Amino acid sequence: MIKIEGLKKVYQIGDQQIQALRGVSLEIHEGEFVAIMGPSGSGKSTMMNVLGCLDKPTAGEYILDNYRISDAHDDDLAFIRNRKIGFVFQNFNLLPRTTAVENVELPLMYSGIPVRERKERAIMSLQNVGLGERLWNKPNELSGGQQQRVSIARALVNHPVILLADEPTGALDTKTSLEIMSIFQQLNDSGKTVILVTHEPDIAEYAKRIIRFRDGQIEEDQPVMKRRMAY
Ligand code: ADP
Ligand code: ADP
Repeated sequence: MIKIEGLKKVYQIGDQQIQALRGVSLEIHEGEFVAIMGPSGSGKSTMMNVLGCLDKPTAGEYILDNYRISDAHDDDLAFIRNRKIGFVFQNFNLLPRTTAVENVELPLMYSGIPVRERKERAIMSLQNVGLGERLWNKPNELSGGQQQRVSIARALVNHPVILLADEPTGALDTKTSLEIMSIFQQLNDSGKTVILVTHEPDIAEYAKRIIRFRDGQIEEDQPVMKRRMAY
């Protein structure tokens, strides 16, 4: 599903060069659940921006679902981003003056889907994350956890091949964080490929694999040892 080889990203600030990624190689297969960890400045966000086709690498190869992203034109990137990738952010990134349904419909606007079908798919997507009772509420009428559910519904409405989440529980309390993580877990259980960034070990444990970055490189890449539940 994802193949990355010798990936580099250099930011140029004035005459200074910052090497955010210094040769990253990895493969992520369909159905994986990956947590990306590492100290601040280690390249996690840069990696997510490249994975999400928001940013092109300076060097190296990135193949997503048979598309060679590293060689793609910007127009193609926008198309691939819209069709193949679902994004979830720390601060939800919802439009404030629009309802949950309208927020979730947004990614479908670019796909030329008729209004009625758009609405139906948005409603179904919201029902799938347990928000069937809050369809017509605006973000400021919803709790943080509910807003994050809206953003997960929006991320999924186009049936993306990967779900990318950057600190999705960073703005939530512990109980709500676990509720949101159990949604990611259910999605992964039903086959969705999930990649998230977190600095919280308890959150990373929901994943099946943890990749640790340091100084723009992969420091460690290991499967998660699942704690045996004692009942
Ligand atoms: P992390 O997400 O792990 O905190 P980042 O990917 O944000 O790390 O940053 C990696 C390095 O790249 C840091 O040195 C950071 O300052 C630099 N960097 C990130 N984004 C930019 C940018 N848009 N312009 C210049 N430097 C950047
Ligand atoms: P408990 O004592 O209830 O097991 P935990 O903090 O271990 O408390 O878990 C809280 C919730 O998070 C539980 O519902 C559990 O199913 C889930 N959970 C904890 N660890 C993992 C893990 N490694 N993988 C999947 N789910 C987990």
